[in-house]
Amino acid sequence: GSLLAAYDLRKSYGATPALDGASFSIHAGEIVAVMGPSGSGKSTLLHCLAGIVPADSGTISYQGRDLTELSDRARSALRRTDFGFVFQFGQLVPELTCLENVALPLRLSGTRRKEAERIALEWMERLEVTDVRAQRPGEVSGGQGQRIAVARSLVTSPRLLFADEPTGALDSLNGERVMELLTDAARSAGTAVVLVTHEVRVAAYSDREVVVRDGRTRDMDAYVGGAGPG
Ligand code: ADP
Ligand code: ADP
Repeated sequence: GSLLAAYDLRKSYGATPALDGASFSIHAGEIVAVMGPSGSGKSTLLHCLAGIVPADSGTISYQGRDLTELSDRARSALRRTDFGFVFQFGQLVPELTCLENVALPLRLSGTRRKEAERIALEWMERLEVTDVRAQRPGEVSGGQGQRIAVARSLVTSPRLLFADEPTGALDSLNGERVMELLTDAARSAGTAVVLVTHEVRVAAYSDREVVVRDGRTRDMDAYVGGAGPG
């Protein structure tokens, strides 16, 4: 079975349809790239899957539970315990050191400072950024900042990581290094990844590709296999 499965999602912003019958599923530990041109609905799909934005219709089940039936409170609890997030710009807290940034999700869920920082340092080691642990985000490079954001997104060992253009602000060399480290870390933790990207080189790190066009999804393997429309 799937870890997360969504079927026939529809979502409009006013008269603009962002999702027009999109379906998606991901298994535990799987890395799935969501590709497609700008404006095709990739971010909206990610936000609906993560329960950040409500879909107008359609079903989303996570570990067999209907996400749309959960209360707001239960949904945000689920996001904290089971989901991780990393976006194009790391969105680190500028006042905190890099180590404090990585430790933050653990601190917010009640882990004591020493223990949180010990675990945070392990993740920083995996992402090769322990040397900037005492610096503030404003003092590190774009590639380092993004690796710190990745460490922070994985520090709670989420079952599912939502990554929206995680290398979009980086040059290709730094981007590939971040993807290498991100996918290695996710695989070693058994974390599934929904990876939104418009870059083929980034999608190459995934196990499977899904293409979004005009708010509809298409499985790339089925498409290449000849099952897609002509
Ligand atoms: P598998 O376990 O092989 O991944 P699933 O039954 O989890 O198969 O999903 C297969 C496909 O069917 C997915 O693309 C999913 O989006 C779709 N699907 C069909 N009906 C539903 C439903 N009621 N809820 C969620 N997904 C559904
Ligand atoms: P992508 O991530 O593929 O670039 P988006 O999901 O961001 O696509 O956008 C899909 C469509 O929905 C676009 O037409 C976009 O302009 C529109 N859209 C997205 N977010 C909003 C919003 N908050 N308000 C109004 N329209 C939106």
